[in-house]
Amino acid sequence: MSSHGEFLLIVLSSPSGAGKTTLTRLLLERYPELRFSVSHTTRAPRASEVDGRDYHFVDRARFLELVAAGAFLEWAEVHDNLYGTSVAEIERARAVPGCGGMIFDIDYQGARQIKSKVADVVAMFILPPSMQELERRLRGRASETEDAVQRRFAVAQGEIEHYALFDYLIVNSNLDSAFDELRSIVVAERARRQRRAPLAEALLRIGRLT
Ligand code: ADP
Ligand code: 5GP
Repeated sequence: MSSHGEFLLIVLSSPSGAGKTTLTRLLLERYPELRFSVSHTTRAPRASEVDGRDYHFVDRARFLELVAAGAFLEWAEVHDNLYGTSVAEIERARAVPGCGGMIFDIDYQGARQIKSKVADVVAMFILPPSMQELERRLRGRASETEDAVQRRFAVAQGEIEHYALFDYLIVNSNLDSAFDELRSIVVAERARRQRRAPLAEALLRIGRLT
């Protein structure tokens, strides 16, 4: 599978708390033509989350039914819950006129699966400036129990170990500069030769003096 022309498939991963949700929100504000890929999950919704907007919240039995039906492009177990990206989610976005691509907020296991199936996906990993700052942000979010914070922090190191799966590493020390990095990558990826080749070819076909 390939992401066809200028339809960008952007994977954004990070250890929990590094700023992926914040940066994704900024990217969607700046580029409203991009769509957020709403994953399925068996995790319980947080107070601020809305079913169908942040996630499709389903129970484990339903999730496993979808796995068996081949509904997911990728899925993985993360922090004791199941998460997956449905093929239908991408097909729906492709069918929307003017849609410039999709953003996938998924973990490294999902990133690995998508990269092995889709030729020109752009995979970015967000790094915190330090482990101390990561812990501070996890606690500051206050949407998790102490136990969940501890668990997420403990696995963060293990997630960072997989940095080599990604094309770009973004450091989220200062939010403005991290967003600048992210935006620059999107701009550069859109201008890649293979994405612009159809335009060049079209110009050649009609490029006769009239
Ligand atoms: P993730 O989606 O990766 O788990 P979030 O985007 O929820 O992370 O960010 C975790 C916390 O850190 C949030 O409270 C967010 O406001 C804060 N945060 C994100 N980026 C920065 C930054 N550059 N500097 C300070 N705090 C940040
Ligand atoms: P959270 O529970 O904080 O929303 O997400 C926990 C982790 O699950 C994050 O690392 C997030 O990127 C990952 N995640 C969310 N949706 C998916 C998905 O569809 N597939 C995979 N593989 N990971 C996901």
